[in-house]
Amino acid sequence: MRGVYGVYIAVPFCAQKCTYCNFASSVLPRALLDEYLAALETELAAEGWAEPPDTLYLGGGTPSLLEEAALRGIVERLPRVEWSEATIEVSPGTVTADRAALWKELGFDRVSLGVQSFVAREIAATGRKHSARQVEEEVGALRGAGFSKINIDLIAGLPYQSRESWRESLDWVERISPPHVSAYMLEEDEDSRLGREILSGGSRYGARAVPDEEQIAEYYLEAVARLECLGLRRYEISNFARPGFESRHNLKYWRREPYRGFGADAHSFDGRRRWWNVETAAEYVERFRGGRSPVESSGELSPRQSMEEHFFVGLRQAEGIEPAEEEWETFAEPIRRLADDGLLERGGGRLRLTDRGTMVSNLVFQEFIN
Ligand code: SF4
Repeated sequence: MRGVYGVYIAVPFCAQKCTYCNFASSVLPRALLDEYLAALETELAAEGWAEPPDTLYLGGGTPSLLEEAALRGIVERLPRVEWSEATIEVSPGTVTADRAALWKELGFDRVSLGVQSFVAREIAATGRKHSARQVEEEVGALRGAGFSKINIDLIAGLPYQSRESWRESLDWVERISPPHVSAYMLEEDEDSRLGREILSGGSRYGARAVPDEEQIAEYYLEAVARLECLGLRRYEISNFARPGFESRHNLKYWRREPYRGFGADAHSFDGRRRWWNVETAAEYVERFRGGRSPVESSGELSPRQSMEEHFFVGLRQAEGIEPAEEEWETFAEPIRRLADDGLLERGGGRLRLTDRGTMVSNLVFQEFIN
């Protein structure tokens, strides 16, 4: 590994499968969970930890559902370091004062709450069960346990969302006042039930009540302006924070710093090489049963691929990137064209997306991929 690296651990189990979810998570039987945790502990125990990591992210899935013994089993296999940031992903409805105290005791100092919406009809349509009041109470319990680094996830584009209901969710954010918010635009792809329904023209899961692209863009822009007023600056396309509350772990992904992933579908990067584990919990367990490595694929990046990544990952950040001389030369043509179109701006040796470029970021990024 080059530089200080982050650790990501995947716990791909949930109490329900949300309609919009395109992660490799699912509701799995207890026996598989036990086997998965045993395999995860084996993978962690086999790690040499040649250098100490500095950030931890326990994601999923819903790791907040894990019982104390399971959480301890994971944390005890990690090196004993002073984490500069340790995040646990939490679903609303799973926070209690006791659990919050346990997470704190285990070294977590940041909680990411997958709220997505504060509006009852939208929440119900996704298959989730929390209420806005419950989120408020649970944030209170987290603060009572000493957590100040709290993130709330929101999705613009959920079924039945309107400008008014989106504002209602933003009003709740203002009332709860977290120092970090992630506001994503709904992804309509084949990997979620809702995405498949929309793409096939069906009506299940509220697919016909999904706002159109222009409305979703409008909601996103409203969130940018509103969160800015609340002192949460956009530092990445979907991420907003008060100064000093940016996610140190997630910044590693956009800055292409090293990280090591454990568990199903977990990805790793050492600065030159990328590798990742098999996608599902069942395949992951199967690999360990057979005494085999969970790694599904790995490869060294070519110099060209590294440059491309620097652009399409790094440009996600509001501060943009500082291209090397060779990168300015290699991408001179698309940079000039995108700058002429008002989608990129240059200055002080840096390159960044303009506000317009941010709205069509995927099209901009395609220009840097061979
Ligand atoms: S959105 Fe989160 S809680 Fe819902 S199924 Fe996906 S990983 Fe689980």
